[in-house]
Amino acid sequence: MNFETNFSLKSYNTFGIDAKAKQFIAIHSKEELAAILQNHQDIFILGGGSNMLLTQNVDKLVIHIDLKGIEIIDTNEDYVWVKAHAGENWHNFVLYCIEKNYGGIENLSLIPGNVGTTPIQNIGAYGVEIKDTFFCCEAMEIASQKLVTFDKESCAFGYRESVFKNELKNQFIITSVTFKLTKKNHRLNTSYGAIETELTNKKITSPTLKDISNAVITIRKSKLPDPKELGNSGSFFKNPIVSKTIYEKAKTNYPEIPHYPVSENEVKVPAGWLIEQAGFKGKRFGDAGIHKNQALVLVNYGHATGAEILAVAKMIQETVLEKFGIPIEAEVNII
Ligand SMILES: Cc1cc2nc3c(=O)[nH]c(=O)nc-3n(C[C@H](O)[C@H](O)[C@H](O)COP(=O)(O)OP(=O)(O)OC[C@H]3O[C@@H](n4cnc5c(N)ncnc54)[C@H](O)[C@@H]3O)c2cc1C
Repeated sequence: MNFETNFSLKSYNTFGIDAKAKQFIAIHSKEELAAILQNHQDIFILGGGSNMLLTQNVDKLVIHIDLKGIEIIDTNEDYVWVKAHAGENWHNFVLYCIEKNYGGIENLSLIPGNVGTTPIQNIGAYGVEIKDTFFCCEAMEIASQKLVTFDKESCAFGYRESVFKNELKNQFIITSVTFKLTKKNHRLNTSYGAIETELTNKKITSPTLKDISNAVITIRKSKLPDPKELGNSGSFFKNPIVSKTIYEKAKTNYPEIPHYPVSENEVKVPAGWLIEQAGFKGKRFGDAGIHKNQALVLVNYGHATGAEILAVAKMIQETVLEKFGIPIEAEVNII
């Protein structure tokens, strides 16, 4: 097997941080993965590198999951069960499903990263989350190299959360994910964000899966920087879910503060609004900064280190907490 040493991860993370891996290997089969895990337990798993901020060199063996393949597991008149291996690129998988007229993930078009990582933070966009079509995933336990199947319930999905970020953090490597998708009577979701407006502009009244995907792609391209042009990791922070008491307190000083009900006692507040109001949108600190159109996105203008970007993130968190009394948490994995 081909182990690299002192390997630059610059082209393996969308922030474009030039951190080094002590050792690096890309694996292409479960057998290879099991063999490596038998001898190495101090490891770091890398998918597409689009949800991490490398703040230091990785003094471990970095295993890049490059398992490929898409299979139809089952089908009936209404549904198809499609299994994609962990190293498949997520957006290419979405396009494959749209091409076959399999519905349910079209709103998640153009999210960077790999299929195997999608359950970890229950990726979501435009009113849809992966949990809506997730059927099961297969994962290898690092300690025993046993393959375990997780159904939807055992993944304990929440807003940008799952069991793999909590109780089972760093214990399993996801090797494939199976989705249950519609073959007909697709449940289209056009009510979120600007999808409806985009379809109207194009004079589309009965949208296909492809129309929705195209609308999402157009909106995303107009809002989010392309990591190939400007290093970033998408939304750096989660939208905070706070108690009504905290929200009401903030509202006394900032009556216009937006919020969305989550439960009887909790509301979700858009982190982008808080960061913008705190004056950070478009600010630059050396090569680290906050995107000019999207306050939730931290960017690397070229040669920022992960530590510099983290320092900006901490400054934002402290200012937002001081101003609004609302803590905001990173969505991106800080390494
Ligand atoms: C421009 C941009 C836009 C984005 N928009 C969205 C969005 O709309 N919605 C959204 O939810 N996210 C979004 N993201 C975040 C990101 O795309 C997703 O979180 C994606 O699922 C990360 O996949 P990845 O393969 O790149 O993960 P990586 O960054 O490689 O890994 C993320 C974490 O998962 C672990 N990991 C990776 N693969 C495995 C595996 N097979 N098994 C176990 N652990 C693993 C890693 O160790 C790491 O801790 C965006 C990112 C960017 C850059």
